Amino acid sequence: MNANLLLVEDDPDMADLLAQVLAYEGYSVTHAGNIAAAKALLSDQIQLALLDVGLPDGNGFDLLRDLRESHPKLPVIMLTARGEAMDRVLGLELGADDYLPKPFETRELTARIRAVLRRSLPEDTVIESVIELDARRREARMGGKLLDLTGAEFDLMTLLIKNTPDPVSKDELSEQALGKPLGPFDRAVDVHISRLRKKLGEGDQSPKIVAIRNRGYQWLEPV
Ligand code: CA
Repeated sequence: MNANLLLVEDDPDMADLLAQVLAYEGYSVTHAGNIAAAKALLSDQIQLALLDVGLPDGNGFDLLRDLRESHPKLPVIMLTARGEAMDRVLGLELGADDYLPKPFETRELTARIRAVLRRSLPEDTVIESVIELDARRREARMGGKLLDLTGAEFDLMTLLIKNTPDPVSKDELSEQALGKPLGPFDRAVDVHISRLRKKLGEGDQSPKIVAIRNRGYQWLEPV
């Protein structure tokens, strides 16, 4: 999923590192080193904002408050310094979509960005799939027939379908669909996927869930 990101970060080394990582992941990055620049650079082309908290001309939370008024639907992830425990509550109260304490692993950041972008898809986004998903009733149909899925299977499948054609990492599947971080030797995702595959069937008309080494699982629609 490519998107334009606004990175508001005053530390030049940190900003360079993040811009490189995010560009490598396929995102376009617009960088602002302070609040004034962030406001000037913000446009409808920006799909997500990453906000540092300590900025030279103010506080990231003040910027967040302004963004919530000027761009109510723009997803925002706050990047806060270590030890700012109250920041999480404050950030989420002010309407941040997620929060990441520094220092963080860049992999963790890119996983959060993907998750927030996916959640920010409008409810009525049409997803082309042989599976009809009813998110409200948490029901899935294939060829008009209701699939008998557990809640975890429904959530895993929804995540995979929404992400097509990109694979979704096991970390993300575990966190987003099973509601827990992936542990060492944790096979829970694999077990659910294997049951889900059985329920989808093996025929030509069935979608496939393919394991991709080191990258997770990918959803493939029948051709
Ligand atoms: Ca800072």
